[in-house]
Amino acid sequence: MPFSTTIAGSLPKPVWLAEPERIFPSWRLEGAELAEAQRDATRIAVAEQLRAGIDTVTDGEQARKHFVHGFSERLEGVDAAKRQSRGIRDDRYDAVCPTVTGEVRRVRPVFGEDARFARTLTRGPLKITIPGPMTLVDTVVDEAYGKRSELAFAFAFAIRDEIADLVAAGVDVVQLDEPAFNVYFDEVAEWGIDALDTALGGARCTTAVHVCYGYGIPANVEWKSNLGDRWDQYAHVLPLLARSSVDQISIELAGSHVPPGVLELAGTKTVAVGVIDVASERVETPQDVAATIALARRHLPDERIVCSTNCGMAPMSREVAYAKLRNLAEGAQLASEGF
Ligand code: ZN
Repeated sequence: MPFSTTIAGSLPKPVWLAEPERIFPSWRLEGAELAEAQRDATRIAVAEQLRAGIDTVTDGEQARKHFVHGFSERLEGVDAAKRQSRGIRDDRYDAVCPTVTGEVRRVRPVFGEDARFARTLTRGPLKITIPGPMTLVDTVVDEAYGKRSELAFAFAFAIRDEIADLVAAGVDVVQLDEPAFNVYFDEVAEWGIDALDTALGGARCTTAVHVCYGYGIPANVEWKSNLGDRWDQYAHVLPLLARSSVDQISIELAGSHVPPGVLELAGTKTVAVGVIDVASERVETPQDVAATIALARRHLPDERIVCSTNCGMAPMSREVAYAKLRNLAEGAQLASEGF
């Protein structure tokens, strides 16, 4: 059986849709024109994944400005117009974030329409991503709850309702993005896993959680350069996730200082192993990809390995991102042929 392939989530947006190579770009259009352009960009994103040979595709997050704000700002209780700067991921960098001003409730579907449209573009497996509760808490200014855990559970209930709608729209895999899990180990143990399980409770689809070292933006690259030669974050997080209800854990491995042995801490979970580095413009060869898969195989049985990207590719150039997709699929093929 060849190794199954997917991507973490986002792909670069075309220059006619949004400012290129930004994680928080301005749209080029508005209203109905914007909606049509987002659908066209989604067509391209899905087609390019299928053309590359990616098995489980995403919508490339072409209709969201940002992977966290795109969800939080559409909930009741979150004031998208009241934007304030705050330090996020333990003050790694400052970001301008929306403000929680009241009780958080999901009063309407958020990604349902995007998912239904993406569903029309492929008969194969479709994945939609949603920011996880802890990452949501860490990417808003809270003026209503006062306690991170309480706000997290409010977000978790909103996510749970959203997942039910996405499954009804025909989505096969829902992935919660939790880069904050790699930062706040104590909170992950205290309430992060419970909030994750609350969000995923009763999900009638394959569930995944993505825990990473972030987009290849300068603040993250600098942070990573200070983490030393051995990145032990997953050694804290994976044993906790192993006890959660999630089916699949998406982590990064390619071009990192993650010791591959940590994969053994994932319990019985499937692991979507990052075999493509999103912080480097260098396009991995299929042989590079196969070599990273070989590293993972020393610590995981083949049936628990899915080949993925380290993180989203939103801030990259389109040419580089699509070239990486092709070599991801080719490398997975090479590995399954017994590289
Ligand atoms: Zn990521």
